[in-house]
Amino acid sequence: MPHNFHRELQTALTAVRQAAIVCRSVQSSITTESLAKKDKSPVTVADFASQAIVCRQLQIDFPNDPVIGEEGAAELKMPSGEEFLSRAVRECAAAGVNASPGEVCDWIDRGGASEYSPRFWTLDPIDGTKGFLRKEQYAISLALIIDGQIEIGVLGCPNMSFEGKPEGTGVLAWAVRGHGAWMQPLTAPDAAPVKIDVSTTSNAAELRFCESVESGHSSHDWSGLIASELGIHLEPIRMDSQCKYLAVARGDADLYLRLPTRKGYQEKIWDHAGGILVVLEAGGHVTDISGKSPDFRHGSSLAQNEGMVVTNGKSHAAVVIAVSKHAPADMA
Ligand code: AMP
Ligand code: MG
Repeated sequence: MPHNFHRELQTALTAVRQAAIVCRSVQSSITTESLAKKDKSPVTVADFASQAIVCRQLQIDFPNDPVIGEEGAAELKMPSGEEFLSRAVRECAAAGVNASPGEVCDWIDRGGASEYSPRFWTLDPIDGTKGFLRKEQYAISLALIIDGQIEIGVLGCPNMSFEGKPEGTGVLAWAVRGHGAWMQPLTAPDAAPVKIDVSTTSNAAELRFCESVESGHSSHDWSGLIASELGIHLEPIRMDSQCKYLAVARGDADLYLRLPTRKGYQEKIWDHAGGILVVLEAGGHVTDISGKSPDFRHGSSLAQNEGMVVTNGKSHAAVVIAVSKHAPADMA
């Protein structure tokens, strides 16, 4: 019988809900003017505050667990980071976490582990920074990995819709290995969790596929060739962040392709771990582009994998064959 990790799950859900409050508050302050100026400071502030809040909760409940997070506080400790730090401190306070600048930096640095260990958490405080800035999709992703296995995956998706509720209700999705995948409206911790399952689409030509908005993160040319090969007639759903994993997990899409744009790029574990377990526990299948399982035993990178193929499990093998058949010459 798999462990149910009840305490760890409660901590992770609380932390992600609280981080989402910060992200939403900062996102709502983005103006058309700051967008036009391509001002990236809102995402920088929210990234740091989100990591501080999640790592604080992990520090309180599991002080011995290392956290491999995307951010470090080095930038904030420099004179040029002072303004960001004081804004991050203010955002934490607005979300109910009162702390000194030093404490905020310490929490952020708690997420600075990079080496593999038998038990660790991995965190992306804001996955899909471009989506965050465009006021589109982004996610807070947290996972617990033990002996290389993802045991808990949590995705906070503040701009996803929840079952007929108004747009932007937000979704909190989670999975514990062996216990299925679940979701709730993001700000309704007492709502009954809804079980999520992948779609049953089995005809490759009918697949609804999603991919990154950014062609620099996943090759759109390559996915176009794969779609033609499989006879897919629907346009791709382009979406930022691990919300794509949630889309496949709950059957909004059947396939998520992440196709390397250059040889040698190593995917980061925090861009995948939370989402992968949610899809697996919803009944889907996840491998890299050559059909290998993602290997979380190499620190902060998926050094033994390339790209990712995420499906509802029905046509996974056919998709992997099409991916390999159309691999650009410089990727082979
Ligand atoms: P997405 O929102 O799906 O486009 O993914 C966002 C993530 O892409 C970021 O968190 C980055 O870590 C990651 N990323 C950055 N550069 C690349 C790249 N060249 N290939 C794949 N992923 C990347
Ligand atoms: Mg990311």
